[in-house]
Amino acid sequence: MRWLAAALLVASAGALAADAPLRTKVEPVRVSARAYYVQGLPGMASAANEGFNSNAGFVVTDEGVVVVDALGTPPLGAALLAAIRKVTDKPVRRVIVTHYHADHFYGLQAFKDAGAEIWAHRGALEYLQSDEGPRRHAQRARDLFPWVDEKMPLVGADRWLEGDASFTLGGIRFDLVAMGPAHTPEDLVVSVPQEGLLFSGDILFTGRIPFVGEADSRKWLAAIERLATAKPKLMVPGHGVVSRDPAKDLGLTQGYLRHLRAVMGKAVEDFTPFEEAYAKADWSAYAKLPAFDAANRVNAYGQYLLLERELLKR
Ligand SMILES: [Zn+2]
Repeated sequence: MRWLAAALLVASAGALAADAPLRTKVEPVRVSARAYYVQGLPGMASAANEGFNSNAGFVVTDEGVVVVDALGTPPLGAALLAAIRKVTDKPVRRVIVTHYHADHFYGLQAFKDAGAEIWAHRGALEYLQSDEGPRRHAQRARDLFPWVDEKMPLVGADRWLEGDASFTLGGIRFDLVAMGPAHTPEDLVVSVPQEGLLFSGDILFTGRIPFVGEADSRKWLAAIERLATAKPKLMVPGHGVVSRDPAKDLGLTQGYLRHLRAVMGKAVEDFTPFEEAYAKADWSAYAKLPAFDAANRVNAYGQYLLLERELLKR
C-alpha cells in the first residue's frame, strides 16, 4: 500500500503520458441496443499497436454510462472516453475492471479524472502490492514509451469487491460474477441480461492465442464451462472480435488450454525436459493464429511449471 500511495503522489506531480498522441483510432462499435465496445488490434501490446491490443466496452443507461475495462495506456483511456463521448454525453458513472493486467487498466486515470467510480475484485490487491506490478510497469514504460512512462499511476479501485455483486443503473441490471482464480485471481465477468450480453474479460479470447503463462488453467477451464452454461447471445471478449456464437468461440480458448495441459501434463508425468517436450509437441492447430509466436512458448513453459506443482501436490 505504501508503494501504491507513493505512485499516486508522483502522479499528481504531473504525468505527461496521457498527452502522448496516438495514431490508432479507437472507434465504438455497437453490439446491442445499449452496448458498445472498442476492439484492440491483434497480438501482444507493442510499440507498433501503441499498446492497443485489448478490448473495452460500455453500456449507456438513462442515468449514465457503465464502462468495462479501460485499455492499456493513459492516452488509450482518454481515447476510450472520447469514443464514449461520440455516442452519449451522459456521465460515466462506473468502471468495472475485469482484471488487473496492464492492457486492461492502465487507461483508468482518464475515468477517475472524469469522476467515475472504479470497481474491481480485491484479488488484484495482491498483484498491486507485489513486485510484479512495478516490474510490468517498468517493462511497459520501456516498450510503450511515450504512451506509458514511469510517472504513470497504477490506479486502484474505489471499491474492492469480495465476490459477486449486482447493481441497477437507469433500469439496467449489471451482474458482476467473480470467476477467479482463472486467467487471474481477480477475474470478474460482467453480465447485462437485458442485452443478452456478457463481457468476459480474458476468460475468453477470440481469434488469437490467449496469454496463459502460469495461470491456473484447471480453474480457467471450469470458468469457461460456467460462462457456457449462462448462454449469453453476445460475448465481448478481452481480446478479439465480439462473439455472436459464444459456445463456439469459447471452444477455441477451451481447446487450446486443454491441449496445453495434455501435452505439458504428459511431459511432466514422463519427466521429459521442457525443451524436448516443446519441440516434439504438435502445435499445428494453433500455430497460424495471432499471438502464437509471442505467447505459445511462454504459455507452454508456464503450464509445464504449473503441472509440475500439481503433480507434486498429488
Ligand atoms: Zn488481456
